[in-house]
Amino acid sequence: MSTLIHDALQSRIPHQAKRYPDKAGTRHEFNCPLCGDKRRRGRIYLNDDGSCGCDCKNCYNASRQETDKPLTKKLEKLLVALGMSGDEIRRLKYDVWRERILAQNSPSVTKQPLPDGARPIGDWIADNIADPNFNDLLEDLADMDPDHRDGYYWTPEAGTTGDMNRRYIWVVGDPELPDAWAAHTIDDDEEVDTIVGDPDAWVASLDEEDEPAFDTPEINRSE
Ligand SMILES: [Zn+2]
Repeated sequence: MSTLIHDALQSRIPHQAKRYPDKAGTRHEFNCPLCGDKRRRGRIYLNDDGSCGCDCKNCYNASRQETDKPLTKKLEKLLVALGMSGDEIRRLKYDVWRERILAQNSPSVTKQPLPDGARPIGDWIADNIADPNFNDLLEDLADMDPDHRDGYYWTPEAGTTGDMNRRYIWVVGDPELPDAWAAHTIDDDEEVDTIVGDPDAWVASLDEEDEPAFDTPEINRSE
């Protein structure tokens, strides 16, 4: 049973929160950071069985998080509002995913370095790069929060796959020697799979429900 999300929430509960025993565990009431609430209408539920949840009686951001499931989008939203950085969110999602995959005794692959030439999108913007593929990428990610977007990587090189310059790359850990990365295509072609590099485990066929573990709400195109 994974307690990663439970623990992440616990470490981010505001100091002013009030604790109450709840039928399944503990309820914490605090000023919801999503809506500027000042009457402790935000709640985090930490259950003894490892599951958790949140709700707000003012803005109605509510979610229930089962153990061993990908981080829900509404809990992600709350964690960001409670101060978790994009890097920390990506790490959390990766760790949750990895725990689940390892529990499935999935096949392993060798650790792969980041694709050649990959740098953060923010760096390419700062460099004012002129590249039609990069323009397409920015257009495709237009709905994404810029700070979040700029933490993804991109390379102008097509690489051995021939299309790496039409992908944005999600990196976990030190970019010089990442713990994992995944390259998502910007082209809506179902034949093009996500390409991944992971030190310990990778499973080729993720079921539908697994996909949000990689994608952030802004880029999850399956909805
Ligand atoms: Zn709220």
